[in-house]
Amino acid sequence: MDSSYVVWVFLAALVTAVATGVGALPFFFTREIAAHWLGVAGALASGIMLAASFSLLYAGLQSHIALSLVGVVLGMVLVAAVDRLLARYSALVPGGGQFTNQTDWRQMLLIVVVMTVHSIAEGVGIGVSFGKLESTLGLVTTIAIAVHNIPEGLAISSVLVPRGVAWWKAALWSVFSSLPQPLMAVPAYWFVEAFKPFLPFGFGFAAGAMIWLVFSEILTDALEDTPSETVASVVTLAIVGMLAFQLVIAPGT
Ligand SMILES: [Zn+2]
Repeated sequence: MDSSYVVWVFLAALVTAVATGVGALPFFFTREIAAHWLGVAGALASGIMLAASFSLLYAGLQSHIALSLVGVVLGMVLVAAVDRLLARYSALVPGGGQFTNQTDWRQMLLIVVVMTVHSIAEGVGIGVSFGKLESTLGLVTTIAIAVHNIPEGLAISSVLVPRGVAWWKAALWSVFSSLPQPLMAVPAYWFVEAFKPFLPFGFGFAAGAMIWLVFSEILTDALEDTPSETVASVVTLAIVGMLAFQLVIAPGT
């Protein structure tokens, strides 16, 4: 295994992390967001997260059904537990008490946590695909993840910006959520055989956490602000758009 290659694996995964920040850029042009757009932004985030979850689930189930299922269940349980803890103890968390709207604060924190956790599995995915020493596979996986990170940054920003976070801060949080990608890609590349069984579990975990968060928080909140017809239309189109986008940039991954 070529040690200088590790640097390239790290840099490739770092590029994917930076790409996530690009997703916040549309908010540079729309600083003021009217209340009814809050639901549309939430619906957009939901559709993107659901489509990303489906892709991860599909990849996980193809390699190991039982491990993927265990991952999904644990992903759900973890987010549900964090959600309950935050609801109960938010005033005790540093910075948590200063938000007048505790629901908003909890949702912002949850989406950053869940999207960061889901990047761990994707970082392992990048490292493992490079580790197979088929550099084309590694490169294709990296490009696929980098490009799908852009709408994921948009999903995070769609939750943060309408709740008062500056667009550039949303961009930084988006990049932060993808930092596990370069951090996990390198060990996964070095110890590819050890990390391989983790993938179906990790993909299932990421999908379970994201789908749960969509239905427990983001989508239910969107339906409070915006008519259900609008929310349903945006979610449907966002799912199709994200899946088509992934298919166009990396067919067959
Ligand atoms: Zn992702």
